[in-house]
Amino acid sequence: MNYTGKPKVITVHRNRCIGCGYCLSVENNFWVISPNDGKITIREFISTNEQTLKVTVPIEILDSVIDSCENCPESVFKL
Ligand code: SF4
Repeated sequence: MNYTGKPKVITVHRNRCIGCGYCLSVENNFWVISPNDGKITIREFISTNEQTLKVTVPIEILDSVIDSCENCPESVFKL
């Protein structure tokens, strides 16, 4: 794909996450499962209680993160 070269913001609907880890099997440097509630988040928001996050993805890992989002069976990520 051809991106604009800018970081991308992805909306994460954590309330839909079932903790299956399919996204992590593709990209486990960016996403983490929160120890608080077993749902997806990123390290920066590891202890969040928010059900909807907006996360900024660095351009360097954007391809991998988008691939990981497309691996989610629960439509957690809005690209
Ligand atoms: S693939 Fe989707 S449902 Fe599974 S852990 Fe990742 S965000 Fe949650």
